[in-house]
Amino acid sequence: MEQLKMKIIQEGKVLSDSVLKVDSFLNHQIDPELMQAVGKEFAERFADSGITKILTIESSGIAPSMMAGLYLGVPVIFARKRKSLTLVDHLYTASVHSFTKNETNDISVSKDFILENDVVLVIDDFLANGQAALGLIDILEQAGATLSGVGIVIEKGFQPGGAEIRQRGIRVESLANIRSLENGNVEFFEEGSFK
Ligand code: 5GP
Repeated sequence: MEQLKMKIIQEGKVLSDSVLKVDSFLNHQIDPELMQAVGKEFAERFADSGITKILTIESSGIAPSMMAGLYLGVPVIFARKRKSLTLVDHLYTASVHSFTKNETNDISVSKDFILENDVVLVIDDFLANGQAALGLIDILEQAGATLSGVGIVIEKGFQPGGAEIRQRGIRVESLANIRSLENGNVEFFEEGSFK
């Protein structure tokens, strides 16, 4: 997705060979027009998949998921990283190790919102080692729901998550896939070359 790649080039900050900071449009300040375009792109790519719900993880997955949900006309559920006072029981949970925070959290989703007959699109902001996406997929398996695929705003294709998920036969659609962050430069894979 060219518009997204341009934004990454213009505003992304390479913090190390493995971490990209995009706080000006995705992870802190949010660019609504870009998120709208991202949501439209996800909706088009998964248009014929019979999706009934989108599942993401708080907080940075929510903005792109909301826009995709608007275009697909389906509800958006976000897994919580902390237990809420009103969300204590009746939960699906999975353990997720955070790449950026280097801590492990239990994520949870109420059993009320994912049902056996749901066809679910998993969306997240970044794909690195795949822990967040695999945790969400685990929750869908617990619920007996059908996974339609995984939509990622920014994949770092030099890390193993994407390959691991695709090896399971799961469709992964990344709107930008980074080949390298070495020497402070962002290089992308060509569209289609990582499928
Ligand atoms: P994974 O679970 O695939 O290892 O990492 C994905 C999660 O870690 C995403 O939800 C995202 O919040 C965070 N993350 C991973 N790599 C990066 C990165 O380079 N930059 C930012 N801003 N977040 C990242």
